[in-house]
Amino acid sequence: MPHPHAPDWSDPDTTLPPDGAASAWRQRYAALGDDFVSRLTPSPLPAPYWVGRNGALANQLGLSPEWASTDALLHTFTGNQVPDGAAQTASVYSGHQFGVWAGQLGDGRACTLGELAGQEVQLKGAGPTPFSRRGDGRAVLRSSIREFLCSEAMHALGIPTTRALCVTGSDAPVWREEQETAAVVTRVAPSFVRFGHFEHFSHTQQHAQLRTLADHVIDHFYPECRSAAADHGPYVALLQAVTGRTAEMVAHWQSVGFCHGVMNTDNMSILGLTLDYGPFQFLDGYDPAHICNHSDTQGRYAFYKQPNVAYWNLFCLGQALMPLIGEQEHAIAALETYKTRYPQALAARMAAKLGFAQAHEHQRPLIETVLKLIAHERVDFTIFWRRLSHWAAGMDVANTTVRDLFVDRDAADAWLADFRALHVQDETFDRAMVSARMLGTNPKFVLRNHLGELAIRAAKSKDFSVLHQLQIVLADPFAEHPAFDDWAGFAPDWAAGIEISCSS
Ligand code: AMP
Ligand code: MG
Repeated sequence: MPHPHAPDWSDPDTTLPPDGAASAWRQRYAALGDDFVSRLTPSPLPAPYWVGRNGALANQLGLSPEWASTDALLHTFTGNQVPDGAAQTASVYSGHQFGVWAGQLGDGRACTLGELAGQEVQLKGAGPTPFSRRGDGRAVLRSSIREFLCSEAMHALGIPTTRALCVTGSDAPVWREEQETAAVVTRVAPSFVRFGHFEHFSHTQQHAQLRTLADHVIDHFYPECRSAAADHGPYVALLQAVTGRTAEMVAHWQSVGFCHGVMNTDNMSILGLTLDYGPFQFLDGYDPAHICNHSDTQGRYAFYKQPNVAYWNLFCLGQALMPLIGEQEHAIAALETYKTRYPQALAARMAAKLGFAQAHEHQRPLIETVLKLIAHERVDFTIFWRRLSHWAAGMDVANTTVRDLFVDRDAADAWLADFRALHVQDETFDRAMVSARMLGTNPKFVLRNHLGELAIRAAKSKDFSVLHQLQIVLADPFAEHPAFDDWAGFAPDWAAGIEISCSS
């Protein structure tokens, strides 16, 4: 029986104005049918309150400027009520977790309301679904704030990611290692389809549905793959396009020191967006072997392994697409492109970090040497690049701010001299331009674990001011924000004690 608020499922273009919104909802994914989604009824949370809001994104979605003061939307984004034209649905997917086939998973605590302005709006933590398994369908305030802040921080860094519209909280208790309180984060993306959605229909031999899913993704997000039909067909083209986007995303991660923490195939976006913020961490001191997820005892998702894990995950996607692709060698050829796309993407990111207009082979020794040097001394990753960016404006050899980060000052000086020499040999070299380029590439602010923690601690006593200030700073991470210099400093000692594990 359809949910009372469900629109006409046969018509994906059904549009009805939502409460308080200037735009209208669409249900294109849910319209794929019951093999893809389950309809939910709301599981209300008592006495919700706003924790964080994102006015810029609300505006893009066409929500009226008063959206944040409407009770109707407070309840909508807590999952308590469903506006006309919206619905609550959970999608089914499967996946490989920590390298092992995990079978069916699905949206166990996420429900999608539909699309506004071409963007799917999804509530995380809004209650149990048919895919909750043994989970409670909830998210706690702590992890919701982390996801909210980090999604927008990544977006402002120019990294492909799902977005976050708001967080609402409730004093309803949620049990994790201790009693915490419930929260719901509203996420936004053109699509939340994961590699795991394809794996699901492939592994369960639902090949018609697999094709429907692939066609949905191609038609809405990769239309250029259709015209590749003359080559090896649209599904090979899709695999290659996803491979390219994933390579770009991971190159971005590596270039800012972002550790995702749970790169299971069910957390990999088919659009190459950073998805499912859980135990993520921005590196403080540069340690390539860093493991940010306390539950990842084997270190499968250590920072330096991320590029290879992405490739492994893409193979799972390729395997899932085989019933549509047919010829294995075509799938392998598409996947092989990762081996050039990823290094190219990384080289472009690193060139920009070093202030070069484009990547060049002769930059490679400079990059390899500096990464070795900062790894050896565990130099703070963000601070190193930012100080280097400022120093580049003068490039005086007697540099103190950068070399002071190192114990081995001679090694630092030698590298700085090489860095300078490589720039100077370029006849179009202009210090001010190099520095400006670097300052626009190497952020002053990233969401370090301890900054998230400061916002969380205050929010637990209903003080959302730290969260709001962090939002402002992280939305513009390349600006100086001198009043917030402390947040650009070294992580305090207590940051090392923050333990973050899987789903919370
Ligand atoms: P994650 O490790 O967060 O990617 O979650 C893996 C799977 O567990 C997904 O299917 C989630 O929907 C599900 N899950 C995680 N936490 C919960 C929870 N509290 N309640 C229900 N399902 C959950
Ligand atoms: Mg997940």
